[in-house]
Amino acid sequence: MYDVILVGHGPAAVSAALYLRRANKTAALIGKDFGALEKAEKIENYFGLSAPLSGIELAKTGLEQANALGADIIEDEIFDISWMGDFTLTGKKQSYQAKSVVIACGSARKTLPIKGMAEHEGKGVSYCAVCDAFFYRGKTVGVLGAGGYALHELEHLLNVVEKAYLFTNGEPAPENLPDKTTAITEKIVEVCGENIVDSVLLQNGEKIDLSGLFVALGSASAADFARKLGVPVENGVILVDEKMCTMVEGLFAAGDCIGGLKQVATAVAEGAQAAMSVIAFLNKGK
Ligand SMILES: Cc1cc2nc3c(=O)[nH]c(=O)nc-3n(C[C@H](O)[C@H](O)[C@H](O)COP(=O)(O)OP(=O)(O)OC[C@H]3O[C@@H](n4cnc5c(N)ncnc54)[C@H](O)[C@@H]3O)c2cc1C
Repeated sequence: MYDVILVGHGPAAVSAALYLRRANKTAALIGKDFGALEKAEKIENYFGLSAPLSGIELAKTGLEQANALGADIIEDEIFDISWMGDFTLTGKKQSYQAKSVVIACGSARKTLPIKGMAEHEGKGVSYCAVCDAFFYRGKTVGVLGAGGYALHELEHLLNVVEKAYLFTNGEPAPENLPDKTTAITEKIVEVCGENIVDSVLLQNGEKIDLSGLFVALGSASAADFARKLGVPVENGVILVDEKMCTMVEGLFAAGDCIGGLKQVATAVAEGAQAAMSVIAFLNKGK
């Protein structure tokens, strides 16, 4: 059991880890890649750089710094975060336990510009199986995605639904699909239904009847984790107060996932503030 798990290997998570380790809290940073910095060819507007640095170089240096202070650096993809007194993080490789969590996953809400998708959000298009599966008990649903996260959402839905389709959007279908599931590799071109979803139209002209479509493209995002824990999300960003606290005790968020300027400097500042709030929370006796 860690005092704190920071989900992310980016500037927000690393910055928080530095403060947390120096306050003697056990900490792990779990990330699947270098996030936004992976795409940043050159960073030259951050304090202390005598010459521009590639995003990856900056990210690697940060992780080494956190590791040198005693933070565990774990490479894994997190599918789910749940709370039952303490936090459990379900990863692709294993599960992890922590007294507190900082979500620092960057900004990523993977969706596709499919006709009818945005209009049906909350009317049959969902981004959270844990939140909405119950409404589809005994019905037929679809999951849009082909990776580990999509399979994780599918597994949750199969507890209650009659039948499920896995729409891989052109990706190869995963092997060993669970019972009651049919994989469809053909792309969806339209989400249909008068008011609520009643079917999807495929590129080959075929219509598939279903009551709900769960979007689980790529990896679980910060907003997905927040929704599953009952934390409000607005326009894809997690709502926090000025101390980076969410409305769930022990759960904090920092960096691009809370919106704002979305720069390394702001992510670092928010990470530092989140760390202070985590320390205060842990010192209260949790
Ligand atoms: C092309 C580009 C150029 C940029 N140039 C600049 C610049 O010049 N100057 C500047 O200040 N900023 C720049 N930025 C912005 C800057 O990179 C971000 O603001 C900053 O990296 C945000 O930090 P973060 O820690 O919030 O998120 P990120 O750095 O995005 O880190 C997110 C972390 O979360 C992890 N993660 C996400 N989902 C999961 C999951 N399900 N399981 C496990 N881990 C997960 C990722 O692996 C990653 O480690 C640029 C961004 C881009 C895209």
